[in-house]
Amino acid sequence: MTTTFSARYTRLSRFLAGLTAAVMTVVALALLPYADLPAERVALLVPVFSSVQATLNAVIAYLVVLQFYADRKYPTALISIGFAFSALLSAIQIVSLPGVFTEGGNFERFAPIAIWLWVARLSGHALLILLAMLVLKGRPALLASERSVGYQTAVFAIMPVALAVMVYAFLGYNRDLLPDLMDASGNYSGLAHGRAGYFMLACWTLALLGILLVTRLQRGFDCWLAFSAYSYILYLIVNFTSASRFTIGWYTSRFFELAAAATLLGALLFEVLRMQQRLKKLYSNAYQASIRDGLTGLYSRRYFDTALARELAAAERSRRPLSLLMVDIDYFKQYNDTHGHLAGDDCIRQVAASLLDGFRGSDIVARYGGEEFVIILPDTGRGLACQTAERLRSQIMMLGIPSVRPADVNKPVVTVSIGLSHLPPGAEPRKTMQTLIGEADDALYEAKRQGRNRVVCAAERTDG
Ligand code: GH3
Ligand code: MG
Ligand code: MG
Repeated sequence: MTTTFSARYTRLSRFLAGLTAAVMTVVALALLPYADLPAERVALLVPVFSSVQATLNAVIAYLVVLQFYADRKYPTALISIGFAFSALLSAIQIVSLPGVFTEGGNFERFAPIAIWLWVARLSGHALLILLAMLVLKGRPALLASERSVGYQTAVFAIMPVALAVMVYAFLGYNRDLLPDLMDASGNYSGLAHGRAGYFMLACWTLALLGILLVTRLQRGFDCWLAFSAYSYILYLIVNFTSASRFTIGWYTSRFFELAAAATLLGALLFEVLRMQQRLKKLYSNAYQASIRDGLTGLYSRRYFDTALARELAAAERSRRPLSLLMVDIDYFKQYNDTHGHLAGDDCIRQVAASLLDGFRGSDIVARYGGEEFVIILPDTGRGLACQTAERLRSQIMMLGIPSVRPADVNKPVVTVSIGLSHLPPGAEPRKTMQTLIGEADDALYEAKRQGRNRVVCAAERTDG
């Protein structure tokens, strides 16, 4: 099965992700001196940011777990769990915000754990990505079995829910034991300059190092995943520099988090578009391969069967004639025995090319098997079909492929015999495919019996 994350466009992705990271670094550095300046308090911005963030991360998680379904690599599933976990904890946080579900919000009640949810969300997300990188490094060839991948995908889709519920329950249960990371005025410098802050930064730094060292940025997705980890680091730095809500630093840091998710989602959607294009091409190639014969490029026997049924039905409906030619190379076994099978193949190819030459686009030229070919001539009466067959016979003789028959002293070239069957215009007599093929085959046999290198029409044979 084709996978979404391909190595194409890696160089472009590296360049673009690197450039965007550089621009963001410059913006972050320029912002740092002003990070602590208070800005207008737009309370609504927080739920809006969090909702967008949760939605983007949920879509990323969905696209990545679909990828696990295709590539069966556990690190892919772990990355997906990381994004889904983050999305779920964001959603839980939104519930706690004032003015979202209730006027006063559950904020007062949630306040002690709201910031811990944020710590758990960001560090858990980073740790899951780090775990993915460790698994990729330790067991690069580990794949989920083909048979159980659907079931495992379902389990991995449920896992973030279980993790989020566990984290939420743990924090809620221990809320009285948790130190206050934010004071009543919304200052969280205790977090920013305390162990929790450094822990979060360490988690994302390790995740970024893991991505860089393990993937070596070999696919476009790796580049954007690394970019997203780097954005989280910038996010935390800018956010911690202000250490207070509703400041310039606090607001802009949210943009860094959004940039992390939005760019990764963009890269994934681009890959999905490319996968669609690849599938379309693969389908077209597979279809062509299924209707073409590998040696000659003529239509395959399978295609001939469906085409004959279709053309016969159309001819009967429109009361138009239809002719069928069955062509067989003469004494081909001997040709093979003398020149070898490779030369035999070459001879078949030359005859096939000659058959194709000079037929109308509506005629269907197929390889029936071995050194036998069939040609469907829709809307062609018996007289014209006989002329065509005769032209074909002499055309192949004119190719002058040297024959090996000792008896062919005068005509030492490869020849063909042709049997012709025919559906006359008008609906009667009705003929089945089998009748038509059988008659052409009998006519061919008759041509062989009469000495080969000739055309025999089915009606002639019955007359005679
Ligand atoms: P006739 O004049 O009665 O048709 O005699 P013939 O030797 O052509 O007929 P026969 O059916 O006995 O032999 C067909 C030979 O075609 C047998 C087989 O070795 C050869 N053949 C079938 N398919 C291929 C192929 O794909 N490549 C090559 N090189 N030979 C093939
Ligand atoms: Mg044969
Ligand atoms: Mg033959």
